[in-house]
Amino acid sequence: MRRITVFGATGSVGESTLDLLARRDDVAVVALTGGRQVARLAELARAHRAELAVTAHEECYRPLKEALAGTGIAVAAGPGAVVEAGYRPADWVMSAIVGAAGLAPGFAALSQGCIVALANKESLVTAGPLLLAEARAHGATLLPVDSEHSAVFQALVGEDIAAVETVTLTASGGGLRDWPLERLAQATVADAGAHPNWAMGQRITIDSASMFNKAMEVIEAREFFGLDPDQIRVLIHPQSLVHALVGFRDGAMMAHLGSPDMRHPIGYALNWPDRGALPVARLDLAAAGRLDFAAPDLRRYPALRLAGEVMRIGGAAGAVFNAAKEIALDHFIEGQIGFLDMAGVVEDTLADYMSRGSLGNAPKSLQEVLAIDAEARRRAAEVIRARGRAA
Ligand code: NAD
Ligand code: MG
Repeated sequence: MRRITVFGATGSVGESTLDLLARRDDVAVVALTGGRQVARLAELARAHRAELAVTAHEECYRPLKEALAGTGIAVAAGPGAVVEAGYRPADWVMSAIVGAAGLAPGFAALSQGCIVALANKESLVTAGPLLLAEARAHGATLLPVDSEHSAVFQALVGEDIAAVETVTLTASGGGLRDWPLERLAQATVADAGAHPNWAMGQRITIDSASMFNKAMEVIEAREFFGLDPDQIRVLIHPQSLVHALVGFRDGAMMAHLGSPDMRHPIGYALNWPDRGALPVARLDLAAAGRLDFAAPDLRRYPALRLAGEVMRIGGAAGAVFNAAKEIALDHFIEGQIGFLDMAGVVEDTLADYMSRGSLGNAPKSLQEVLAIDAEARRRAAEVIRARGRAA
């Protein structure tokens, strides 16, 4: 039996992971963690006969405990309990919490030397070098789950990374792709929260419309594959059928194609290093008819330009970038700032740090990253207040 823990079990990636696990009989579910969706978490824990169910919120302890009464499933609550779940012996762990909250649980899982399937891209953006070092130190294996990164990883099987010239990540362009530039400032949460091709959590869907998701993925690719920033390209590809392309020094390009279904990259990480059968729709290229590509317009997507700056600066820039983006996104979702203000807030927060000369030093521990994250959230909130006063 393979012992498996799923962080963020009630989310979009978590649910897809459990859908795959439900089809197997060689799996024992160790811990499932979630947030406020207590009823769903309890349902999943029962269905998968988990040993432990954890909610990230202390106030959800009692309802979760009641929902699981008589099942023998252990219950815990709070951010510390989520991290603790990562220390429970497991062979394979899905890291699918959204945001920097996924960082510490991922580190805990790596410390037991297991396979960690990483959907939580924020981990690599905020603490890439530390995360990889932690994996190495404990003999753990990090596998990419982000569809583009899984695609690159698959295209690299049997290849020498030194032979790679370029890595191209595709982007659908999100829900606002065809909106005129002048209208973008007026986009609402509902407008930005509708994705043409992928069914995902609300936060990543809005990040897809602003291209902050791709900006994060560029940094994620740099960290995960050890690439130079100028090796990484982004192409708008409205059909979301080609997930990434790897260009080699002999001029060949290897593309990864498939239907947009997260169960493919999740399943690849689950079956790795084998290729097991997966219940995903087979791509019918004749039915698809065409594959379109276009270069992204950086005026439209300032997030991509900011990703370039973050990689150039290095040090703590990734952690500050991510924290400012999360705060900006919170405020957009709450209707306090406009769609285009999100990039403005992130840019102003980075500029604030630059003016104090405090971005260059790379954090040396998880604790330092968490402290930078907390401080950057405060400063981003201050930037939002200052922009509000200036408006
Ligand atoms: P989601 O919002 O659907 O689910 C997030 C999960 O994290 C939920 O279980 C939620 O309860 C939990 N969570 C939220 N805040 C938490 C906190 N503070 N502490 C502990 N748990 C918390 O998100 P998602 O779309 O499944 O994305 C999860 C991660 O995977 C993100 O990092 C995202 O960027 C990445 N990702 C998602 C997709 C996708 O298709 N959804 C694709 C690629 C990468
Ligand atoms: Mg992706």
